[in-house]
Amino acid sequence: MAEILVLVEHVEGEVKKVTLELLTLARTLGSPSAVWAGPGYSAEAKARLAEYGAEKVYLADAAEIADHVVAPKAQLLAQLVSSAAPAGVLVAATAEGKEVAGRLAIKTDSGVITDAVGLAEGFVAEQSIFGGGVNVHSRVTKGTPIIAVRPNATAPEPSAGAAAEEQVTVTLSDADKAAKVVDRVKQEKGARPELTEAAIVVSGGRGVGSAENFAIIEKLADVLGAAVGASRAATDAGWYPHQFQVGQTGKTVAPQLYIAAGISGAIQHRAGMQTAKTIIAINKDPEAPIFELADFGVVGDLHQIVPQLTEEVDKR
Ligand code: FAD
Repeated sequence: MAEILVLVEHVEGEVKKVTLELLTLARTLGSPSAVWAGPGYSAEAKARLAEYGAEKVYLADAAEIADHVVAPKAQLLAQLVSSAAPAGVLVAATAEGKEVAGRLAIKTDSGVITDAVGLAEGFVAEQSIFGGGVNVHSRVTKGTPIIAVRPNATAPEPSAGAAAEEQVTVTLSDADKAAKVVDRVKQEKGARPELTEAAIVVSGGRGVGSAENFAIIEKLADVLGAAVGASRAATDAGWYPHQFQVGQTGKTVAPQLYIAAGISGAIQHRAGMQTAKTIIAINKDPEAPIFELADFGVVGDLHQIVPQLTEEVDKR
């Protein structure tokens, strides 16, 4: 079966969910080989990769790989493209993954497709463009297909793989070492799931009314085990931090459930959430465009509805 390289995203040794999604997708196209770059590899990480079908793990865990930002990862993949001749390379369409994909495309003289929301036989990638108004199917026509796939493009499904390890030594040029990490500042890890990986997202918009009122959005999120998101109107007003903005100029989410409270449903907001499996809108205006998109709609004042919903969910 054709070998497919999957670049593992990991934080402090923990394999990110998006990697499990990429392994799941890779299995539909061939035989997935996970590529681990940088320190932090462990028996648990190996078990996780095996659980989701990695037949092989290319292990390049030298510290200097993490010391030079993204260039060494592109170099590692380029080496493997040359030595293993895989049918394709999948990376997560995160800021880092997309930069790796671009650099790898240059190094291997290959085509690259970013922000794929789906992937079918023959490495046909699906992209959602124009604020989600049009879906495009594309295929790489030169070199090795390099596809950056958005988080939540598919649900991760376990399927045992051998995860046979193969150590790889990366040869870094001066250009690969041209940028050096000088400091790492650990972000406080909140109790909530990461926005782009969460199965449930509760978002608030201008209708929430103030920074203080976001507490009701957070409470609902917490009883549901959800992440909190916000519209740009809410982040621009300073009611919620920009890193939680959902939409064209914010994060793209594709959870199982998206609850939009006090959000009108502008096209730029939809661009970041319309592939959610189920959408619930809470809005006092029955004509709000979000209702065209929603699977379930509640017309009313969110300041009454959201706390009631929180209370009901909390009872169960
Ligand atoms: P509004 O459109 O003002 O809607 C507020 C809604 O709340 C209304 O429907 C109202 O009926 C309802 N409401 C008010 N009070 C209550 C209440 N008490 N109970 C229930 N409902 C209530 N926007 C994004 O979100 N993300 C982006 O990434 C983004 N990128 C953009 C990029 C560009 C280039 C541009 C031009 C715009 C972008 N925008 C983005 C902005 C976007 O066009 C909208 O302005 C924004 O999404 C509106 O946010 P909102 O729905 O919270 O506010």
